[in-house]
Amino acid sequence: MIELRRKNILVVGMERSGIAAATLLLREGARVTAADQKPFEQLSEAARALRDEGVAFQTQQDGGFEKFDAIVLSPGVPADIPEVEAARSKGVPVLGEVELAAPFLSGPVIGITGSNGKTTTTALTGHILKNCGIPVQVGGNIGTPVTAMLDTSRAEQWNVLELSSFQLETVDTFHPNIAVILNITQNHLDRHGTMQRYAAAKARILDRQTSSDHAILNADDAFCREFAQRGAAQRLWFSSTQRIPDGLCLDQGHILFDGQRVIAAADVPIRGRHNLENTMAAIGAAALAGASNKPIAAAIKTFHAVEHRLEFVRSLDGVDFYNDSKATSVDATLKALDAFGHGVWIILGGKDKGSDYTLLRAPLEAKARAALLIGAAASKIAPALDGAVPLIESGTLDAAVQTAFAQAQPGDTILLAPACSSFDQFQSYEHRGQVFKELVRALESKTHGTAA
Ligand code: ADP
Repeated sequence: MIELRRKNILVVGMERSGIAAATLLLREGARVTAADQKPFEQLSEAARALRDEGVAFQTQQDGGFEKFDAIVLSPGVPADIPEVEAARSKGVPVLGEVELAAPFLSGPVIGITGSNGKTTTTALTGHILKNCGIPVQVGGNIGTPVTAMLDTSRAEQWNVLELSSFQLETVDTFHPNIAVILNITQNHLDRHGTMQRYAAAKARILDRQTSSDHAILNADDAFCREFAQRGAAQRLWFSSTQRIPDGLCLDQGHILFDGQRVIAAADVPIRGRHNLENTMAAIGAAALAGASNKPIAAAIKTFHAVEHRLEFVRSLDGVDFYNDSKATSVDATLKALDAFGHGVWIILGGKDKGSDYTLLRAPLEAKARAALLIGAAASKIAPALDGAVPLIESGTLDAAVQTAFAQAQPGDTILLAPACSSFDQFQSYEHRGQVFKELVRALESKTHGTAA
C-alpha cells in the first residue's frame, strides 16, 4: 500500500466510485485533485461538493498527470488512456479503487470475477451467506464501490466483491481470501487489446494469494486451467461437464461437493447450465466461508434471479414471461435459449453490435415458435434467420409482447433475450427490461378478460 498522507493524488473519473475514492483520500490526509472528461459544471452535485472539501478539479484533457505522486482510476476509465500512459511511463503509480480501498476493509474478502456471471454469482454468494447466518456485505462492480464499503466493514463480516477485469488490471498487492474465476471468454477486446492480455488481467486476482487463501476455478475453462499455477492459493475446481471428486460437479441431476449431494439441479431457481456453474462457484465460496451444505441448499432455493438476467416476470394463461434484457450479445442469447425447451417466443433486436446472428439459427429452429424482431437491428437479423424460424417484424417491444401473447399457447414461454444493446429505443438494458416487465404486467388474461 502506498503512503497517502500529504501526497498529491489524482482521481480520474468523478462518478460514484471516484467520489468515494476522493473522500477516502482526503480522510487519509492526501492532497486530492479530481479529473473527468466533463467540465466541472457538468459533474454531479455530489462531485462538485468535493470542491468545498478542498479537492482541486481539472479536466482529463488538461493532462499533466505525470506531476502527481499517484493516480487512482475509477473502474469505468480505461487504464491505457494517453494521459495515464504518459504518467505511468514516468514511474507514477496507477491504482484502481479496489487496490486503494481493500487495505482499509475489515473482514475477509471473497473476490468474484469472470467474463460472464459475476453479478449473479456475487449476489447468490451474498444471499447464501446471509441466509446461513454469516455476516456479509456485497459490493464492488455490482453497485456499492469498495471505497464506500469501508465504514460498514467489520472484522467478522465477509466482503463479497464483484470484480471486473478493468478493476483487476490495476491491482498489485490486493489478494482476496477466496478468489473465484468463473470463465474467461472473448469480451471487451476493444479495451484490452488481446485475449491474452484480457485473461491476464483477470488472473491478477490470483497473483498475491498465499497458501492460506483459496481459489475457486472453472475446470472447463482453458484459461482457468492455464492460470492455475499462478499464486499460492489452495485450488477448488468446479465443472458442469466432468467429474471432480474433490471439487464441485454435476452428477445424476445433483450438484456434488466433495462427493456429497448439496442440491438437486431442479431445485436451483435460476435457469440454465451457466447458472448451475454460477451456483457451484457460490456453493464453494460459501462453504469455504464456513457455511454447511444443508443451509446452503435451503438458501439457494429462495434466491431470485438478479433483475434483467433470465428474470421470471409472471405466468398468465399458462404462458411464462422471462426478462433477459441483459442478454445484449448473441452469446448471452444462446445461453438464455439453452435454459428452455420447445415453445419459445423470442424477442430479438435493438442496436446491432456487429454480431453474427446466424449462430442463433440452429437453437431457434429447435426451440422457437417465432422470433419477434424489434428495433434498428431487425433488418440485419431477418436475413440471418430467414428460413430457420418464423419471423414477425414487430418494430416495438410493445407490439412484440402483444403479438407473442396473442399467439402463445399454454406451456409456451415469451422471452426477451434480444442479442443487441438497447440504445436505439431505450436508455439502457435496465430501462428496456423495466418497460418489458410493465408491458407484461399490464397484459390481461385471454380467457377471462381480467388480469390473473
Ligand atoms: P456479469 O456481471 O459478469 O455481466 P451476469 O450475472 O450479469 O454477469 O450475467 C450476464 C449474462 O451472462 C446472463 O444474462 C447470461 O446470459 C450470461 N451468463 C451468466 N452466467 C454465465 C456463466 N457462468 N457462463 C456463461 N454465461 C453466463
